[in-house]
Amino acid sequence: MYRNYTCGELRATHTNTEVTLAGWVQKTRDKGFVVWIDLRDRYGITQLVFDEERSSKTLLETARSVGREYVLQIKGVVTERTSRNPNMPTGDIEILVSEIHILNEALLPPFTIEDKSDGGDDLRMKFRYLDIRRNPVKNNLIFRSRVTMEVRKYLTRLGFIEVETPYLIKSTPEGARDFVVPSRMNAGQFYALPQSPQTFKQLLMVGGLDKYFQIVKCFRDEDLRADRQPEFTQIDCEMAFVEQDDILDAFEGLTRHLLKEIKGVESGRFPRLTYDEAMERYGSDKPDIRFGMEFGELNKHAKHRDFEVFNSAELIVGIAVPGAAELTRKEIDQLVDWVRRPQVGAGGMVYVKCNADGTYKSSVDKFYDQSDLVQWAEATSAKAGDLICILSGDASATRTQLSALRMEMATRLGLRNPNEFAPLWVVDFPLLEWDEETGNYHAMHHPFTSPKPGQQQLLETDPGAVRANAYDLVLNGNEIGGGSIRIHDKKTQESMFRHLGFTREEARAQFGFLIDAFQYGAPPHGGIAFGLDRLVAILGGQETIRDFIAFPKNNNGRDVMIDAPARIDDDQLKELNLKLDI
Ligand code: ASP
Repeated sequence: MYRNYTCGELRATHTNTEVTLAGWVQKTRDKGFVVWIDLRDRYGITQLVFDEERSSKTLLETARSVGREYVLQIKGVVTERTSRNPNMPTGDIEILVSEIHILNEALLPPFTIEDKSDGGDDLRMKFRYLDIRRNPVKNNLIFRSRVTMEVRKYLTRLGFIEVETPYLIKSTPEGARDFVVPSRMNAGQFYALPQSPQTFKQLLMVGGLDKYFQIVKCFRDEDLRADRQPEFTQIDCEMAFVEQDDILDAFEGLTRHLLKEIKGVESGRFPRLTYDEAMERYGSDKPDIRFGMEFGELNKHAKHRDFEVFNSAELIVGIAVPGAAELTRKEIDQLVDWVRRPQVGAGGMVYVKCNADGTYKSSVDKFYDQSDLVQWAEATSAKAGDLICILSGDASATRTQLSALRMEMATRLGLRNPNEFAPLWVVDFPLLEWDEETGNYHAMHHPFTSPKPGQQQLLETDPGAVRANAYDLVLNGNEIGGGSIRIHDKKTQESMFRHLGFTREEARAQFGFLIDAFQYGAPPHGGIAFGLDRLVAILGGQETIRDFIAFPKNNNGRDVMIDAPARIDDDQLKELNLKLDI
């Protein structure tokens, strides 16, 4: 037996127990007549002691010879420490070692295996297996495992069954590029890796499985924005014989369960906002509602003077930033610079200081008087001491810019408390989005999403106005889940493909299997998928999903540890019937 106790569990009550432990050397201290070794495993650290009085010479010599991260097995007796360490769970005891076996030597690690390591990101990624020995990373992986276990427990209890779907498939359009895999046995042909198991889970419903889930890898070849991974994990779900409310109820239940079990947080019913409301009130389809600063539209109150910037704007909209009237001129100028950065893209910013005495001071006093500003303050619910920040221009761009400012101000004011959880549903998304580049509509969610009941006709006359049976679950300003009620009849699915610019033949070639399946008794169905990596990160109170993935890719989509992607050799290329031009 390699060990009969772990390095995290021995206490004073174990005094005089004979134990065998195995683990890694965290550090050694040599005081001449006494040597201590801190032995670490996944469960904690236990102090080993060797001294001239009680230990043999060879034992002491061996103890002195080990270096950091050596792998040891020891036998010994638990003894109470004379000077206890209250900061360590095992701090009351140490092991007087009687036998030591070096199971493996170790090179000096390139960074310290401590909670606060001296290693930079790149180095730790390259030696990720060493990084995983550190508590912060290890604990995140344990945390992730707890979350997935709770998901499985909850869904299984509701009668969901977990089914695996294939990875070598044909393209599923979820709005990204496919990763493709050449087929050796079918020269010139390729599999695509799933962007999600979307079509398969729908086919499982046609297959009568009724309630499906899968914790599954998805692959999307997107230009990597910060904190996106080319492969990521979804909690993918589908149900038959359901309407939108059934899905929302089931998965609100799952989310509530996770908040309760994992965070000890009780949550009531989740608010539901329509997409239009969310855009009007927060300028975002994934609003962070942990704090206010709701948008106030000022078109009615700001177009009657000679201020051309506002008069020519499609939308004039503001937020009241609490307590920010105190900002100095210089600080406000910096804010104006901030909204003008290319990443935000506003042309400028008008502001109103709401003074303590009930008067207002604005950057457009030349054009507007106090009675105008009173109305602006009302529209934005500004109180004395607030700073009203106003942006104007094209409606959609202005909303996005103000939303960015709202989030920035909330961050600066410390209003985005990671221990507070504010979930909500956003429903009634547009079905289609106009794509200037291709001159076609594309599906805002995906092509299998159904229009809202009664809007079938509208699809023929004004496709852009059609609302979808689609919903997102939003948590603290992040989309953590999204889904829809699906089309389940051949005719509607075919008309959908037509609206998306597919010819009949193209639709047939790509999705014939699904359209065919719809003719064999497809039940009404719908589902949702959660982004597990993000969900775990938010529940863990952290921002970066990479910290919750055992072996993540870096921002360029590379695995720097195994050095992938990489070239393959000529023989392999030949076998795959591939010729490279580079
Ligand atoms: N397949 C969808 C996605 O990956 C989720 C769904 O509609 O269930 O976003």
